[in-house]
Amino acid sequence: MTVPTPAMRRAMAQAEVGDDVYGEDPTVNRLEEMAAERLGKEAALLVTSGTQGNLVALLSHCGRGDEVILGQQSHTFVFEQGGMAALGGITPWPVPNQPDGTIRIGDIVAAVRGDDEHFPRTRLVCLENTHNVCNGTPLSAEYTAQVARHAHELGLQLHVDGARIFNAAAALSVDVKELVRKVDSVTFCLSKGLCAPVGSVLCGTREFIDQARRNRKILGGGMRQAGVLAAAGIVALEEMADRVGEDHARARRLAAGLAEIPGVDVAPVATNILYFGVAPDLQKTPEDIEAALRKRGVLILARVGGRFRALTHYYVSDEDIDRVITEMHAVLAE
Ligand SMILES: *Cc1c(COP(=O)(O)O)cnc(C)c1O
Repeated sequence: MTVPTPAMRRAMAQAEVGDDVYGEDPTVNRLEEMAAERLGKEAALLVTSGTQGNLVALLSHCGRGDEVILGQQSHTFVFEQGGMAALGGITPWPVPNQPDGTIRIGDIVAAVRGDDEHFPRTRLVCLENTHNVCNGTPLSAEYTAQVARHAHELGLQLHVDGARIFNAAAALSVDVKELVRKVDSVTFCLSKGLCAPVGSVLCGTREFIDQARRNRKILGGGMRQAGVLAAAGIVALEEMADRVGEDHARARRLAAGLAEIPGVDVAPVATNILYFGVAPDLQKTPEDIEAALRKRGVLILARVGGRFRALTHYYVSDEDIDRVITEMHAVLAE
C-alpha cells in the first residue's frame, strides 16, 4: 500500500549509479554498508524482494537434499511457492508456530535428523520477526539468541526472515542489532512499512554474502544501475526505520475503536498489523465486507477463516483511523 516518499523520489532522481553486477554502483554499495552496520553484520546484499532474499539465504546455507526447520505459518513456508524445494532441492520441515510466532525449542530439537543415510541432512532453522500471520508479534532478542545457541550446538545455522524487523525493534524498544546478534543471516524489507518502491536486504558474514551474491545472480537478481532503487532504500533506513512506532500506536487506536463494534473480535496488537474477525452474517461474506470498505476508500484484506487484516503505515494518519472506524460501523450496519 505504501509508495515512495517525496524524499525518496528526489534521492532516486539524483542517485549516482554504476554497474552493480561489477560491484561498481556507489549508491548500492553505500546502502549495503549502511544495512550491514545497522544490523550488526559484516556484509549485506541488496535483493529484489523479500522472497528473493529468503531464497538466496536458503540456497547459500543449504545444498540439494538438505533440510530446513521452519514455522508452519511462516511466510517462507506458506507464501513463497516452496521456492526452496522447487529451485533449490531443499526440504522444508514445518513445525508449529506458537500464537506469539515463536517455535518451541523442544520442537526444533526434536525435528533435527540423526546421521542416517535414510534422512536428509538438517542444516538450518528459520524464524520470522515480526511474525506476519501470528498477529505481527515481535520475537525477543533473548528468544532468538536461545534458538541460535541450540541451533549452533546442533551444528545448524539460523536465518531470520526479518521483513518487519524494524517494527520488532520499535515494539520491544531495542536496537535492531540485538534482535539478530547471534543469527547467521537476516533479511529485511525496504519496501512495505519503510516505503521504498523495491527491495530487501540480506545481511550476514562477508563469506556468506559472497556466496549469496552468486546465488542472487543465478536467480536473475543481478541488477545493473540499481542505485536508483538503493537511493530510496537509503532514505528508508535513514528516515523511515525509526518512525514505525507511530504506526503501532495507530494500530492500537484502531483496535480499540473496532473492539467497540458489536460482533467484531479484535486480536491483540503488538506492532502495525491488526487482525480481527467479524461474527458470521448470512447476508455478508468477508469478501462483501472487504468490497464495501474498498468502495469507501478503506483497504482491508479478507483472509481465510473470516479473519481480516489491517495494516497501519506512514500514509495512515490519526484522522484516517477515525474514518476507518466510522466506515466499519457503517458497513456492518448496512
Ligand atoms: C512480505 C514478506 C516477505 C516477502 O517479501 P516480498 O518483497 O513480498 O517478496 C517475506 N517475509 C515476510 C514475513 C513478509 O511479510
